[in-house]
Amino acid sequence: MIKFEDVSKQYPDGTVAVDSIDFEIQQGEFFVIIGPSGCGKTTTLKMINRLIPLTGGTILINDKKISAYDIHELRWNTGYVLQQIALFPHMTIAENIAIVPELIKWDKEKIENRIHELMNMVGLDPETYASRKPSELSGGEQQRVGVIRALAADPEIILMDEPFSALDPISREKLQDDMLALKKNLKKTTVFVTHDMQEALKLADRICIMKDGKVVQIGTPQELVNNPSDEFVKEFVGDNSNNWISDMTIEGLLRPLDEEETLESFQIIKSVTTPLNKLVEILSNYEQVGIEKDGKLIGFINRQSVMNKLATMLQEGV
Ligand code: ADP
Repeated sequence: MIKFEDVSKQYPDGTVAVDSIDFEIQQGEFFVIIGPSGCGKTTTLKMINRLIPLTGGTILINDKKISAYDIHELRWNTGYVLQQIALFPHMTIAENIAIVPELIKWDKEKIENRIHELMNMVGLDPETYASRKPSELSGGEQQRVGVIRALAADPEIILMDEPFSALDPISREKLQDDMLALKKNLKKTTVFVTHDMQEALKLADRICIMKDGKVVQIGTPQELVNNPSDEFVKEFVGDNSNNWISDMTIEGLLRPLDEEETLESFQIIKSVTTPLNKLVEILSNYEQVGIEKDGKLIGFINRQSVMNKLATMLQEGV
């Protein structure tokens, strides 16, 4: 449905940002582009909706060259989410979401229903939030609005450029969970740029690894982990897994829930298979974290238990 044929981009100063890339993104696919800074991810993304003109090759959407589309038609049919969402500050949340549906002249009732549907989908109660201004929302909530604003007019394609990277770890994880739910419900063709391998592994149907403007490997998360095509991919995937301390598991660190315990507010990890770096990230901000399994709280991990485990491992020379 989105097809790159021998696509290149050379900027006027001579920089070759993208160098002869070829691939096809399927209808409804969640396609993640990942690679080190400067490898050409953003340029690749922005060429799809003609924010950046190509200097070589062809991009086709539904077998039609992007250059043959009316530019407005192309942009309206392509939702776009940036790292720092620029919601219009003087407009309410509902008005912000309604921008494109109004531009393409949906009737009022349809717009209203769509706003409610989307806000509910990402857990923003319309009663509370629809009439607020962006400044009255947290960063994570604003980014959520940014995501649903891009979806508002039901575009065929969603382009997302590091949409969660400016958020704190907890909000980022929540938004990723939202994204997973949206992905399941909406089945939109999504091209998602990130530099975070955990995020890519969590969200992607397929991951495209880029380096120096070229595609190094494309595959499902499982394929990349099991069969990296070269050392670069191996390191890129491996760096983000947690082999460095594979003896330490969430279950191994868990302090089971005491029935008498009063439950104060704490952060929650929803799966015992959550990567340890996530746990450590949370514990750098919070004293303790609750662990859920199958939606039920089963215990806690606190900073002390991690330090104790580390001390034991070091003593044992692990
Ligand atoms: P990424 O998103 O992977 O960090 P980019 O696509 O932003 O990479 O950039 C790819 C390369 O193109 C980098 O070397 C970057 O410095 C260069 N580049 C990006 N935009 C421009 C520009 N407008 N003019 C010249 N070079 C650019």
